[in-house]
Amino acid sequence: RAKHRGRGRAELFDEALRLQLSARSEMEAAIVAGLAAGEMTLHYQPVLDLAAGRLEGYEALVRWERPGVGTVPPGDFVPVAEESSLICDLDRWVLHEATRQLAEWRAADPVEPGEPEPTVAVNVSGRHLADRRILADVTDALAASGLPPRLLVLEVTETVLVNDPVAFTHLAALRELGTTIAIDDFGTGYTSIGQLGNMPVDTLKIDRSFVASTQPGHPELVALMIRAAHTFGLTVVAEGVEEEEQVAWLRDQACDQAQGYLLSRPLPAAAVAALRRPAVPAGA
Ligand code: C2E
Ligand code: MG
Ligand code: MG
Ligand code: MG
Repeated sequence: RAKHRGRGRAELFDEALRLQLSARSEMEAAIVAGLAAGEMTLHYQPVLDLAAGRLEGYEALVRWERPGVGTVPPGDFVPVAEESSLICDLDRWVLHEATRQLAEWRAADPVEPGEPEPTVAVNVSGRHLADRRILADVTDALAASGLPPRLLVLEVTETVLVNDPVAFTHLAALRELGTTIAIDDFGTGYTSIGQLGNMPVDTLKIDRSFVASTQPGHPELVALMIRAAHTFGLTVVAEGVEEEEQVAWLRDQACDQAQGYLLSRPLPAAAVAALRRPAVPAGA
């Protein structure tokens, strides 16, 4: 009898697993179809230079305008895409669209000679970074858009760099190409500050969970991350800035750049075009 009940449970488990697998493959199929139908779109979140109070660039963040569903945030479909090489197709599309868009803005509104040019940052999944195609994908996007490599920032999470020597090699090659490499969500993985000196990276983005935290020790930790990053010659970006006081504090800590809802939410391309230079008080 117990045996019988056990089998019943196993069958129930199988059924739940089967449903889960079929939901996932349906989602995968929907993403493939959505990509083909042009339902993916990018929002752009401005990143500000804190000392100059000037626009540094934009982070491109993918959205899925799903007919009958509405705007789907990346957290709802990027993880599914990351379970297969589908993420490479998605990230390739993002690379092409983001570089094309920045090149278009650049042509429409050239900066004064000598002024820094806004960059565009693209999130690259660890799986894509570990795939040999990443090199051709980045090269192709730059060639198609005509964007200088220095204006393209590639954001990668720290875990992939520590765990995957192939991804590490690809990243070094991408940096050789002249792109800017940023470690995203720093502080949430297992990289020690000391390892930063041995990585092929230019920029450190401190995760929102640390930037926003007032827990004892956390502000000191952020200050330490900024100083350590500067020791290694890295640029530091604070993510998820939502309060005025954070901006003043980050400036005091000599943090280079900031990004967050206080400064601007991620915006559709048309809204960015209307707001080319957000006014933020310099050195306040
Ligand atoms: P991320 O790269 O760390 O991007 C920052 C996320 O924080 C964005 O969420 C942004 O909207 C949100 N954010 C920015 N400022 C604030 C703030 O002040 N407060 C709060 N609460 N949130 C803020 P989003 O767009 O939902 O993206 C989530 C994650 O999805 C990204 O995290 C990135 O890991 C991933 N992702 C987004 N676009 C792509 C993509 O094109 N390819 C890949 N592979 N991953 C992507
Ligand atoms: Mg990012
Ligand atoms: Mg981030
Ligand atoms: Mg983050």
